[in-house]
Amino acid sequence: MKLILLGPPGVGKGTQAQRICNMLNAVQISTGDMLRSEIKSGTKLGEKAAKIINKGKLVSDDIILEMIENRLFINAKPASYILDGFPRTIPQAVGLSKMYEKHNEKLDSVILLESPEDIIIERLTARRSCKKCNKVYHLVTMPPKKDNICDVCSGELVQREDDKPETIKKRMKIYHEQTMPLANYYRENGLLKTVDASGTPDEVHENVKKILKC
Ligand code: AMP
Repeated sequence: MKLILLGPPGVGKGTQAQRICNMLNAVQISTGDMLRSEIKSGTKLGEKAAKIINKGKLVSDDIILEMIENRLFINAKPASYILDGFPRTIPQAVGLSKMYEKHNEKLDSVILLESPEDIIIERLTARRSCKKCNKVYHLVTMPPKKDNICDVCSGELVQREDDKPETIKKRMKIYHEQTMPLANYYRENGLLKTVDASGTPDEVHENVKKILKC
C-alpha cells in the first residue's frame, strides 16, 4: 500500500506512520528524517538544509523531489510505504503525481490528521527526541523512564531546534499557507481521508485503522 500522511507539524504523523508501518509491513519515508540525517552526516546538502530548517522555512521543492525520486524509484523500490512530511507544497504533489505516471504506479490513499492548534503547540513544546536513534518522546504523555535518557539506546534526549516557540509559529503559518491546499488537491482526486488526531496515540491509531479498514 502506498500512503501519504498529511497534517500540521506536531499532529503525530511520525508516531502514526510508525504504527501503520508495523501493521502493514510498510516503510516510513520521512523527508524531515532524511534531511536531519544529511545534517548529522555533515554533507553539503545537510549544511544548506540546516540553515533553512532552523529558521522554520521549507527546503526547496527541487531538492525534496530529487531526494524522493531517488528514495522511491531509483535507489530502492519499496512496495509499501508511508510518506510522512512529504508532499508539503502543491509543486511537490504535482511532481510526485508525475513520478507515479512515469513509473506506472499509483497512490492508494492520503490520510489527513486533524487536531486543534492548542493541542498541537502543546505537543511540539513537550516533544523530545533521542540524539542517537531518533526515538520520539513526549514529556507528559510518553516520558522516558529516566530523565533525558532514551529507553532504547541510552542516548541523550534533546529538543529539536525547530520546536522552539518562535519557530513553531513560523512552521504553523507555512503549513496553513502552503500545505493545507494539498488537502483540496487530494480531495479533488478522490484520495483524501480525514482522521481526528486530537486523542492519545492509541485512539488515533484506532481511527486510522477504521479509515483504512484494517
Ligand atoms: P518534519 O520533521 O517533517 O517536521 O520536517 C522538519 C523540517 O524539514 C521542516 O520544517 C522543513 O524545514 C524541512 N522539510 C521536511 N520535509 C520537507 C518537505 N517535504 N518540503 C520542504 N521542506 C521539508
